[in-house]
Amino acid sequence: MSVQFCSESLKGARVLVTGASTGIGEQMAYHYARFGAEIVITARREKALQQVVEKCLSLGAQKALYIAADMGSESDPDKVVDFALEKLGGLDYLVLNHIGPTPFSMWEGDVEHTRWLMKVNFFSYVQMSWKTLPYLEQSKGSLVIVSSVLGKMPSPFTAPYASTKFALNGFFGSLYHELAMRRSNVSVSICTLGLIDTESAMEKVRGVTKIPAYPATDAALSIIRTGATRQQELYYPWFTQFLSYSKDWLPSVTNFVIQNSYNYSP
Ligand code: NDP
Repeated sequence: MSVQFCSESLKGARVLVTGASTGIGEQMAYHYARFGAEIVITARREKALQQVVEKCLSLGAQKALYIAADMGSESDPDKVVDFALEKLGGLDYLVLNHIGPTPFSMWEGDVEHTRWLMKVNFFSYVQMSWKTLPYLEQSKGSLVIVSSVLGKMPSPFTAPYASTKFALNGFFGSLYHELAMRRSNVSVSICTLGLIDTESAMEKVRGVTKIPAYPATDAALSIIRTGATRQQELYYPWFTQFLSYSKDWLPSVTNFVIQNSYNYSP
């Protein structure tokens, strides 16, 4: 049964958004602000966070605070959760969205980078979710995971990144079942995104592919709706769902299309 999105439900909602100094996370912060939520945002760059917070307050956020943190550190994920719980007095939404920078290139054996990216894009998600779950249980809250079509369908030039997204889908897909079986109050939403026009993504694919990019502000709103309506999955844009299945239904066609979607000559 689908639940109607009601923006009123987000008025006063206590939200923690990661990776919100720029890109989709920044756009999510602005939407939550317009809906009158109480927000904590995090990323590494303090100055950028400060500017986002100021804009959130001008857009109508009931509260907007930031904490600078590095998700590659062992302790910062916990520090961020503690800060949000203390400042907001609990939590209704944990929106995990951050990603560490990674090259868009052929795999050349950089194991150390892959290990580090796993820490930032995956282990910090696990750590923050575990710490937040009891509080989300109390508030009948939601865990929102921002993933990618590359976490369902591998594509070239993204081996470390795709691994972290596959890991997220596996872990939070399993957690979804466990929470449902325990009749938990917490909803888990996994959001599968296609190419979105954020600066960091566009920088990588400009001149390399003609795959269409969709607006970050729309993607951000779709993620927020998915969390607020407690849906298990989002596919944005819609055809990412078809792409996710196509590699199993039509493997050779899919392989041909993927390998010919990029300008590359050996
Ligand atoms: P951006 O690169 O624009 O933003 C990434 C955010 O993460 C920034 O706020 C950055 O801030 C923060 N960040 C980077 N490294 C760290 C770190 N070590 N510790 C803490 N924060 C960090 O990403 P997008 O907005 O493009 O993507 C957002 C989400 O959407 C990601 O999960 C991504 O995988 C997903 N997605 C995006 C797609 C796209 O085409 N854009 C496609 C599919 C999925 P700072 O530098 O200040 O730390």
